Amino acid sequence: GHALFDPRIEAEQNEEATIARELQQAILQKQLELFYQPKIDAATLQVTAVEALLRWRHPTLGLVSPARFIPVAERQGLIEPIGAWVLDHAIKQAATWRAAGMRLRMAVNVSGVQFRQDDFAAKLGRVLKTHGLPPDGLSCEITETVAAENTEATRRAFMTLEQLGVHVCIDDFSASPPAMAALRQIHLHELKIERAALAGCVRDAQARKLLENAVKAAHSHKLRVVAAGVETIAQRDLAVHLCSDELQGYLFAKPMIARAVIIWAAGAPSALAQAFRPTAFKDTQPLDALPTQVAFQPTRISMQR
Ligand code: C2E
Ligand code: CA
Repeated sequence: GHALFDPRIEAEQNEEATIARELQQAILQKQLELFYQPKIDAATLQVTAVEALLRWRHPTLGLVSPARFIPVAERQGLIEPIGAWVLDHAIKQAATWRAAGMRLRMAVNVSGVQFRQDDFAAKLGRVLKTHGLPPDGLSCEITETVAAENTEATRRAFMTLEQLGVHVCIDDFSASPPAMAALRQIHLHELKIERAALAGCVRDAQARKLLENAVKAAHSHKLRVVAAGVETIAQRDLAVHLCSDELQGYLFAKPMIARAVIIWAAGAPSALAQAFRPTAFKDTQPLDALPTQVAFQPTRISMQR
């Protein structure tokens, strides 16, 4: 037989080994950070939730994208401690915001490896209790690919999440018929249309029809539909036309640090954290101390419908 050697394979393997070694130290050395990207209610323009997105502040490489290191963490058995770190920090932040009167939901990305663990829901329940966040204050984003596996392990995992009472969102939803069939078996709250599917619909009438039908089916099951990766006015208009309930994307806000979320929602770059406008958050109970007559002017997220 023949064996072909490509030096690129060796280089990739070396790089992966280096990332894995350094990633092990990243938690201990406090190099992981969470950024938050708002989701906005399409009808009221209020902030309904934020999605926690992980960043690795590497000492020499700078901010490393999760798209680079999460797959390595999954392959190298490191996703469990990283996923646990994300849950703990995101839930703690959500509880802190709630205590300050901002009752927005926190969404976290859950890796398939983490999700399939037998004790995932039990661990999650303990973290929610530790930080005092009600389960429905958390949304678990699970990719369509993992949900569509439709195995005993994933079915059980969805059931335990339902019993726990957390929200479940299917991420990177493509509206493909096999995915639609698999999703009928699961108790869900939200579908998030993937960026490519939305972008593709702007030009492709057939793809748009497929998505329109999927959104109709989702609404008939009382699911909320989120359009993600909205970058342009055309995509925003299409998302609104498709009756998306929520919008997320660079057109409205990029992922940002926790303090910036409050300032962004207040709509004034100079605003102090405690001066945020209570009406900016959909589920916010106005605090007595804050002036309730101040209406939220969505200067940064203005849109015509
Ligand atoms: P995702 O869950 O699909 O997250 C959306 C990604 O698209 C984020 O990239 C976000 O910054 C980016 N994005 C948001 N709006 C726009 C837009 O309008 N245009 C464009 N071009 N991009 C947009 P990010 O933060 O680099 O995350 C990449 C992926 O890494 C995420 O994709 C998610 O699958 C994964 N990830 C991030 N944080 C975590 C985590 O804590 N745990 C796990 N397991 N995976 C994570
Ligand atoms: Ca996500």
